[in-house]
Amino acid sequence: MGLGRYNKKRNFNISSEPRGPKKPLTKNSDKKKSSKTLSFVIQKHAARRLHYDLRLELDGVLLSWAVPKGPSYDPTQKRLAVHVEDHPLDYATFEGSIPKGEYGGGEVIVWDNGTWQPISDPKKDLKKGRLEFHLKGKKLNGVWVLVRMGPPQEVGKENWLLIKRTDAYARSETDFSVTEQKPKSVISRKTIEDLQKKTLKTNQKRKRYYV
Ligand code: MN
Repeated sequence: MGLGRYNKKRNFNISSEPRGPKKPLTKNSDKKKSSKTLSFVIQKHAARRLHYDLRLELDGVLLSWAVPKGPSYDPTQKRLAVHVEDHPLDYATFEGSIPKGEYGGGEVIVWDNGTWQPISDPKKDLKKGRLEFHLKGKKLNGVWVLVRMGPPQEVGKENWLLIKRTDAYARSETDFSVTEQKPKSVISRKTIEDLQKKTLKTNQKRKRYYV
């Protein structure tokens, strides 16, 4: 998909999000797939509506899905995952506050990260609308699947489901809710609420100085 859409939506003079390169970085794309580890990240994002952004590295970009309820270890829980625009690889470490009024305005923490491994050819699987993969993260592990509901559609309108496959890691949501029981950033150990308090303080200070 490329990063045109990502860059177009954002004003980098106002937002501290990373600017994406014009062309995705593809220096490793000719190497054997099996020899390269691919990274994944899940960001918790308190935008107008709280959601979790699942991002999977592929061909120099981060493929992205917005998951309103976040992931669940329970294979009976099918979590809506809206396919959104590709993000630059640098975005994987972005944590902070996107100013109000900007696209995606609100706080972002890196909720989980690690590596992912597609079970078969990821490009074919994405076209087919069924991508199965292993996650090796700090919170999420085991086999997961993304399934598209219906035919391909425009970016931002395509609804997929994120589902845990039954394996040794699978657990019932009533016994263990990973989003509730593990709310902190894997980078800073901060919660979304910690960042929101900080944003509030910064805004109050600004008012005092400039109003
Ligand atoms: Mn988001």
